[in-house]
Amino acid sequence: MSSRPSLLSRLAAQTAEREQANLRRRLRTIEHADGPWLELDGKQLLSFCSNDYLGLAQHPQLIAALKRVVDDEGVGSTSAHLICGHRAEHAALEETLAEWTGRERALLFSTGYMANLGVLQALLGADDICVQDKLNHACLLDGAKLSGAELKRYPHGDIGAAARQLGTRPHAAALLATDGVFSMDGDIAPLRELATLCSREGASLMVDDAHGIGVLGDEGAGSVLAAGLGQHEVPVLMATLGKALGCHGAFVAGSASLIDGLLQSARPYIYTTAMPPALAAAASAAVRLARAENWRRERLAALIKRFQQGAAQLGLALMPSATAIQPLLFGDADAALAAAKALEQQGFLVSAIRPPTVPKGQARLRITLSAAHEDEHLDQLLEALGKLPQGSAAGPHV
Ligand SMILES: *Cc1c(COP(=O)(O)O)cnc(C)c1O
Repeated sequence: MSSRPSLLSRLAAQTAEREQANLRRRLRTIEHADGPWLELDGKQLLSFCSNDYLGLAQHPQLIAALKRVVDDEGVGSTSAHLICGHRAEHAALEETLAEWTGRERALLFSTGYMANLGVLQALLGADDICVQDKLNHACLLDGAKLSGAELKRYPHGDIGAAARQLGTRPHAAALLATDGVFSMDGDIAPLRELATLCSREGASLMVDDAHGIGVLGDEGAGSVLAAGLGQHEVPVLMATLGKALGCHGAFVAGSASLIDGLLQSARPYIYTTAMPPALAAAASAAVRLARAENWRRERLAALIKRFQQGAAQLGLALMPSATAIQPLLFGDADAALAAAKALEQQGFLVSAIRPPTVPKGQARLRITLSAAHEDEHLDQLLEALGKLPQGSAAGPHV
């Protein structure tokens, strides 16, 4: 018999450990979606956990665009972009995205995760340094690991610490990457200060605007334009199509030479099947609506304000966020989980976010708002939050 350890046994032991710590992740199947209403285990729940911030995921124009192209072109793209998968719908969407974000070109990726892996792997090599905010999305961290560059993280939003990290390797080529809107906290990165720092240090700045695109800035063009920054200050912009745009997929936008370079060397772009052309058509329709229908952003802003005011009246310790992501800190993972369960019993679906997705001791309810919510939906949620066990989320948070 070999004395080699078994990989599958080790994985099972790790899962058992997570179970012990009450951190086991579980998959739940949504039986039906209707706006903010989700059916789960035969019960109608009001959802406050989707990223459909503008309420576009079920818009008739997106559905019609998708159906039209499916009827004409079929479902699959049948190939990678560089073989024969790149269709007119992809090309049109890329042009629209470049124009929207004020950049020379855009390149589609199948998911945001792959876009970040692709950008970091293409730009960075083993001799380089990648400086990142500690609360960046997991796929930015994974992309840096894949690239082999030295990864240095700085405390959340701490410009001085970011400068010190860059200063440790003054002669190395450097990329500073940050979320535009932080996915679990909802706050906005200090983009102007980061841009100034990068310009002084000769580093390139990359912004992942998964939660800013569609929501922030004029015509929803995102956090970078909202901060008054362009392609010169932020040469690498990545954003997703699966959140405020209600579709699926992602893109990188920047100079023509950046995009051409990614096309040559971003492996998660080259070696994968292009997204279905019908999805690209649906995303184009979503961008048109997101740009034109400013009322969706105004509606979202009004809901955010209503929610914050209601929470303040109840003495709830919302984390400081001006965006659709309104986290309520519990600290203890069990308390956050118990709160999510209690809310579900009252008809609300809110996700408890626990370590390692967030730092230890910072478990929270990640409450997300959408233009699809009604005022009374919010009021009902607030009432339920107010009835949660005393002390669980009240008082100052860390
Ligand atoms: C959701 C998200 C991603 C991943 O995008 P997908 O298209 O879902 O793979 C990347 N970055 C951030 C900040 C995200 O929130």
